[in-house]
Amino acid sequence: KKRIAVMTSGGDAPGMNAAVRAVVRMSIAQGCEAYAIYEGYEGLVQGGKFIKRMHWEDVRGWLSEGGTLIGTARCKAFTERTGRLRGAKHLVLAGIDALVVCGGDGSLTGADIFRSEWPGLLAELTKLGEISEDQCSSFKTLNIVGLVGSIDNDMSSTDATIGAYSSLTRICQAVDFIDATAYSHSRAFVVEVMGRHCGWLALMAGLSTGADFVFLPEKPPQDKWEKEMCRIIKTVDPNPSTHPPIHRAAGKRKTIVIVAEGAIDRELKPITATYVRDILVDELRLDTRITTLGHVQRGGTACAFDRILATLQGEEAVKAVLESTPDIPSPMIAINENKITRKPLMDAVRLTKAVAECIKNKDFAGAMDLRDPEFEE
Ligand code: ATP
Repeated sequence: KKRIAVMTSGGDAPGMNAAVRAVVRMSIAQGCEAYAIYEGYEGLVQGGKFIKRMHWEDVRGWLSEGGTLIGTARCKAFTERTGRLRGAKHLVLAGIDALVVCGGDGSLTGADIFRSEWPGLLAELTKLGEISEDQCSSFKTLNIVGLVGSIDNDMSSTDATIGAYSSLTRICQAVDFIDATAYSHSRAFVVEVMGRHCGWLALMAGLSTGADFVFLPEKPPQDKWEKEMCRIIKTVDPNPSTHPPIHRAAGKRKTIVIVAEGAIDRELKPITATYVRDILVDELRLDTRITTLGHVQRGGTACAFDRILATLQGEEAVKAVLESTPDIPSPMIAINENKITRKPLMDAVRLTKAVAECIKNKDFAGAMDLRDPEFEE
């Protein structure tokens, strides 16, 4: 029987448990044995109690649970070949030759490197006497399939990552709560949301809460944005027929500004919530508070979309394992225009890294083009 293992790695995201549940149950339904590797790559490097056989009932009730019940970790050892050698040994000893990794671009890069080293790692283990020739004869290839678990929605080649919509939902709820108090006291709130290289959460939160101004990493504001932000918040638009006059001068009692944690200006200087608050206080005399949403954005139950996404993608991951051949590059399970798809994993990782690279080089148009080729200024 084929043995398929699943692990979660990198930052936790709502929906990861639903993904693990789907992989476990689909594996069993397909006549395979399912395993979970606890604590991400740390569990793979440690082996032993971290690699557990999973049965149908072991994942009962996991669909709605937040975080990841099989644990996650950042593992330095796995970034080095010696760590991956130990990981390979533990997989061979457990008879596992297929690994479904649910994590961000770092975790998926690690998985692909691991696969590319596979026959070499086995040869080395045999030479070291850690495993016998017999043990490794049936493990010629390692199947890797990536599932993208990340609240940031920062992976290229897929429309949504597992956890992003749950996080967005939580942010919207929080801003709705803040709205009530902002309105009551006629206050401004600067809300900091997660997203180091990707402004998806900030942008979508801005859209879904009707925020007054949004700061993103990929699209820094024009120079002298401070003036523009104040103008928008304070004044009635000069052309109310196209832009309804909804701002302070027209009686709007609340102001919401959303700042992504990775927001920067055109010189790559961070735009912090504190700086934005100071502008609102100094220039507009608004009673302004900062709310940093922090880890509440990661926690809690997965929203319906993430449960569905993780379940359909987990199912597809097992199918991809069973259909894989050594000449097919490791796939990443994606969703494109509402269809579950398979994309070459390393192409997606490369594109994702290219966005960060563009931002670093102040090529903001390039970053936006990679995010959305149809985007127009
Ligand atoms: P998030 O988007 O939440 O940060 P991530 O998967 O990108 O998730 P990382 O911390 O980058 O998070 O990676 C998680 C783990 O994956 C690392 O601790 C390390 O064990 C492994 N890993 C990352 N990059 C590599 C690499 N280049 N080679 C081998 N292993 C890697």
